[in-house]
Amino acid sequence: MVKKEEGNSIEKIVSLCKRRGFIFPGSEIYGGLANSFDYGPLGVELKNNIKNAWWKRFVHQRDDMVGIDAALIMNPKVWESSGHLKNFSDPLVECKKCHHRFREDQLESKNCPDCKGELMSAKQFNLMLKTFLGPVENDESIVYFRPETAQAMFVDFKNVLDTTRRKLPFGIAQIGKAFRNEITPGNFIFRTREFEQMEIEYFIKEEEWEKVFEMWRKEMQLWMTDVLGLKEKDIHELDIPDGERAHYSKKTIDFEYDFPFGRKELYGLAYRTDFDLKNHFKEAPYENIELKEKLYPHVVEPTWGVDRSVLAVLCNAYAEEDERIVLKLKPSLAPYKIAVFPLLKNKPELVEKAKEVYKMLKKDFVVIFDERGNIGKRYYSQDEIGTPFCVTIDFDSLEKNDVTIRDRDTMKQERIKIEDLVLFLNNKLQ
Ligand code: ATP
Repeated sequence: MVKKEEGNSIEKIVSLCKRRGFIFPGSEIYGGLANSFDYGPLGVELKNNIKNAWWKRFVHQRDDMVGIDAALIMNPKVWESSGHLKNFSDPLVECKKCHHRFREDQLESKNCPDCKGELMSAKQFNLMLKTFLGPVENDESIVYFRPETAQAMFVDFKNVLDTTRRKLPFGIAQIGKAFRNEITPGNFIFRTREFEQMEIEYFIKEEEWEKVFEMWRKEMQLWMTDVLGLKEKDIHELDIPDGERAHYSKKTIDFEYDFPFGRKELYGLAYRTDFDLKNHFKEAPYENIELKEKLYPHVVEPTWGVDRSVLAVLCNAYAEEDERIVLKLKPSLAPYKIAVFPLLKNKPELVEKAKEVYKMLKKDFVVIFDERGNIGKRYYSQDEIGTPFCVTIDFDSLEKNDVTIRDRDTMKQERIKIEDLVLFLNNKLQ
């Protein structure tokens, strides 16, 4: 019997992720490393499903988008021009007593949250993660891991334009790692120092920005509800007021999600004006052939955190029912789509038939074979990792060439002919 409590605590999600191989603490056998995490065998599938759905929807299925995959470490001049070296900082305060450090804008009172001691006044702390490139460690060899993927889309703008001959409006998309020396990482994979982003820089004429901003606002909403399956009631828009936006932004909306630890930023949408292209290119990089004029395109930037997407999807899917824990993932996101079982492990004819079905399904789907324990335990185990369908081969299957298929959410079972199985699953798993 599953013990029920009100709401889903983050501890339950963390525990399931560890227990079932979604997400492990990074470098665990050495005591971990300051809030770093590794995606395990199921986590990488879930994460890839999210990234692939994003690429398909926003790159492959659109006519106005191309992708890139840029280097993580860029010439430090990039960060000088973009303003990150000067402005990409958070206000850091230190406790006079215990010397713990905090982000001032996240504190609820003027005292230390750990020991209630007095806090020193805030200093700006730059979040860029530094390292040295090459064998000499001096000021000239200092480089930074990118704190956002966005700058590569600006720096590569001309190359993309020259090689693809795009006309405004069009976008450049990228999925990749970003690094920030966060003062207080935490809440599992919500805030880490190494994370992944999916970003689009959408290039437009200045006068179009409001229309385009609205288009991306709707696209982001649809992504959250239709692709990730998040509930509308858990999603909120926050218009960031003047003075609180990033240094490059004229308008920003944060999409916030009701995580178990509170309402927090999931994604952002910003109008970056022509700030970045102007800083990187001395000459206007875009030529309007019809009007014979050169111009700096303006930019609307929708940005998605991959890890925060994974976390929101897990929190949304986690459910405790009378006899089971179940991850009600959208089938398109589930790590395994189907589990195949022989009813009994010690009957070679059942195992052989089940392996045949497994091999057949593996050509089209991500499938797992399980013969351990009894059927009830196997269902339980698959429910907990969100597998939408379980297929069981029993003695009747040998004569009638059919199987029992069990639906994760309704727990209903039906008999299906093996020859109809692929079509049936294709329809259900779309
Ligand atoms: P926050 O206010 O939470 O620090 P931010 O406003 O600085 O976030 P952006 O610069 O807009 O974040 O980054 C774009 C997206 O990247 C965020 O919406 C989030 O999904 C993700 N992201 C940013 N920082 C982190 C982090 N430290 N760990 C995980 N994901 C992050």
